[in-house]
Amino acid sequence: MKIIDILNKRNMSLSFEVFPPKKESTFESVVEATEEIAATRPAFMSVTYGAGGGTSKYTMEIARNIKDKYGVPTLAHLTCVSSSKATVHQRIQEMKELGIENVMALRGDLTPELMESDPSNWDYKHAVELVRELKENGDFCIGAACYPEVHPDSINQQDDLLHIKEKVDAGADFLTTQMVFDNNLFFNFMYKIREIGVTVPIIPGIMPITNANQVARAIKLSGSFMPQRFKSIVDYFGNDPSAMKQAGIAYATDQIIDLYANGITNVHVYSMNKPDVAKAITDNLYNILGKDFNR
Ligand code: FAD
Repeated sequence: MKIIDILNKRNMSLSFEVFPPKKESTFESVVEATEEIAATRPAFMSVTYGAGGGTSKYTMEIARNIKDKYGVPTLAHLTCVSSSKATVHQRIQEMKELGIENVMALRGDLTPELMESDPSNWDYKHAVELVRELKENGDFCIGAACYPEVHPDSINQQDDLLHIKEKVDAGADFLTTQMVFDNNLFFNFMYKIREIGVTVPIIPGIMPITNANQVARAIKLSGSFMPQRFKSIVDYFGNDPSAMKQAGIAYATDQIIDLYANGITNVHVYSMNKPDVAKAITDNLYNILGKDFNR
């Protein structure tokens, strides 16, 4: 099933993200976590490509399992900047063979090695090139990334917004945001991106922070702003793992409810291979929304 068709239904729902294992020995535990997350019946599940410490090798296999074994629509991520055209085309072929219809087209982060190399030798410089290639080489539903707080490589927000629009004009069917901890930043971004004529669905990304150690890592990875309200929660509950976990779930639930209440229907949760967190948030939303949720 194509994700754009799910998004166009405009029912309140969640999607969850998983990342592939770092090494073969942890593959089974990731498969188990994926199965448990799928059991919460999200609208779809995405599988990252080499991000979050996982290797890209397993992305397609996990995405195929989600779809074929657990019956949940799946979104496979694909990055391009550190790949050759041949590798990207191989992945596109693999996705076609596995029946993977949804792809998140990403540039990927610039590694220190890439930064030192000559960009004229790279096969890809920006995600828009991958969007075009996917469009030309299959009938994929294509997602792309966007940044309510501006991508760190951008000169300014206007420039970043225009590059996001370029990806949509090239064929991206929907956008998913970098994690936000303050919904007002997302709403301001929505206003600006709609103003420049981007009309595709935009899915806000929410990261439940369930332990104090995650805070520094999440900020380093995303550059996202942490509101004082959230910092106080971490200061107060950070040393009590069980309380911190429940507080993080409550904070994420509160953000999601606020998004739904303001007309956003699909929310993407960076669930980090944590089925207990995915289940707790899903249960909270069922308790609040009842039959209107996830239908
Ligand atoms: P781009 O769209 O290429 O943008 C990167 C920068 O270049 C921006 O500043 C943009 O304004 C600028 N730019 C874009 N096009 C042009 C152009 N034509 N000319 C000049 N400047 C331009 N990383 C992974 O490794 N694996 C994953 O699975 C993964 N999943 C992600 C999922 C989401 C929802 C998000 C938000 C990020 C994800 N990332 C992942 C991280 C992502 O790869 C990085 O943030 C990366 O630095 C940028 O990727 P992008 O696709 O947004 O790049």
